[in-house]
Amino acid sequence: MFRKSALIASFIVHVLGFVGEAAWETVVIKFRQIALLSRTPRFPELDEPRNIVIIGASFAGYYAAQVIASKLPPNSPYRVVIIEPHSHFHFTWVLPRFCVVDQEQKAFIPYGPLLKGAPEGRVRWVRERVAKVNRNGVWLEKSREQIPYDFLVVATGSGAAAGLPSRVPVDTKEEGTALLQDMQHNIKQAQHLVVVGGGAAGVELATDVKHMYPGKFVTLVHSRKAVMHRFGPELQAAALQGLKDLGIETVLHERTASSNIVDGQITLQSGRRIRCDFLVNCTGQRATSGIMTELAPEAISPTGAIRVKPSLQIQDDKLSNVYACGDVADVGIDNPNARSALRQGMVVGFNIVRAATGGSPTKTYKPFWGECVIKLTLGLDKSIVHIGNGKTELWWRSKEKDISLDAAGAWNHLGVKPFQDDDGLEKQVE
Ligand SMILES: Cc1cc2nc3c(=O)[nH]c(=O)nc-3n(C[C@H](O)[C@H](O)[C@H](O)COP(=O)(O)OP(=O)(O)OC[C@H]3O[C@@H](n4cnc5c(N)ncnc54)[C@H](O)[C@@H]3O)c2cc1C
Repeated sequence: MFRKSALIASFIVHVLGFVGEAAWETVVIKFRQIALLSRTPRFPELDEPRNIVIIGASFAGYYAAQVIASKLPPNSPYRVVIIEPHSHFHFTWVLPRFCVVDQEQKAFIPYGPLLKGAPEGRVRWVRERVAKVNRNGVWLEKSREQIPYDFLVVATGSGAAAGLPSRVPVDTKEEGTALLQDMQHNIKQAQHLVVVGGGAAGVELATDVKHMYPGKFVTLVHSRKAVMHRFGPELQAAALQGLKDLGIETVLHERTASSNIVDGQITLQSGRRIRCDFLVNCTGQRATSGIMTELAPEAISPTGAIRVKPSLQIQDDKLSNVYACGDVADVGIDNPNARSALRQGMVVGFNIVRAATGGSPTKTYKPFWGECVIKLTLGLDKSIVHIGNGKTELWWRSKEKDISLDAAGAWNHLGVKPFQDDDGLEKQVE
């Protein structure tokens, strides 16, 4: 009991500390801006603005862009160049749910409002993918344009080779909604469904399917001894019970030999066969660091994540103007998550504003276990909220009333009225 109370107290102290820290940083930057403006022009007149290039505009990159665009002094020679191939922000949390229920439009949030209010010309938005990066600049995949940078932020996140339900592997909203509708259709048609991977995406998808279609046979295959193995034993047990309660067969410590369905069956490495007419692969997320192999091969860890210093500058003293944040950065957390990606994006943003206004990038990111708080759904109307610090776990059951898992909250957070999409918001920042 004492341990759990201590966990709650420590969580509250950290959250308050974070809010205070962000407010303090805003004050410091405001003072710096006023000081710069009150002096005679500190920045040289340039024909071309200097570029702060941000690759990837999800939780980490989009928030880094917001901090930089809003906090650079108005007379700064720098502009923010955001390079992101997606037409809309992909809200990952709801993807397993929207593979099953037809709310897919809500997973795609229009870009733009977070950057409103930035001075004219401060932001250039490029709808493209970066093919490679070196010291001279970044190269775009289709146009082949080379964009030089003074500062670079790598916020390319992580990817799943299988695509859905962990990532939407296409760029436009139209293509994305079509993929989700295909998945809903295939699940509806299947009678014997196999879900591979017992992390959050696999558990949530399997339980949603079985709740929505109780007559289907759903099997979850997971290679570890427990589902949700990256979390504590109490959550593992509660998740397993949730699967059982719905009538899902969970096969642990087993891998599929291949994803091919042969004669209506899939084969496990043990030789066991399971009836299957549709398989959903929920495994294999990996940091998306491929574009950095030329610039900083030494900084890429065996997991694919980019090693960073506490300031989130990459681990290469020759590249102090290059930062990485979010899922792609190796910051020493077991469960990369959106909250920590967002906070890292803000740390990078503050450090670049400091460096671009004559200061030092002294702000640091310290991983906080409370950022890994998870709400794990176990069917359409039940969930478990869980926090843990590796030693103590605290969790409780909750009722889910909103079939779209409060997607509206995410829209609001990104400054967009739910669920209005006029497809024009992005143009306002071009
Ligand atoms: C199914 C699921 C549920 C989740 N639920 C939660 C949850 O409940 N709570 C939570 O906190 N976290 C959750 N997460 C984790 C969270 O989604 C990630 O931690 C978060 O998205 C990481 O953000 P990011 O900005 O680092 O990268 P990502 O979200 O991975 O985005 C990377 C961006 O970079 C862009 N990009 C990649 N390569 C290039 C390139 N070469 N050129 C240009 N752009 C590029 C991509 O298009 C993308 O927009 C969930 C994840 C999944 C998969």
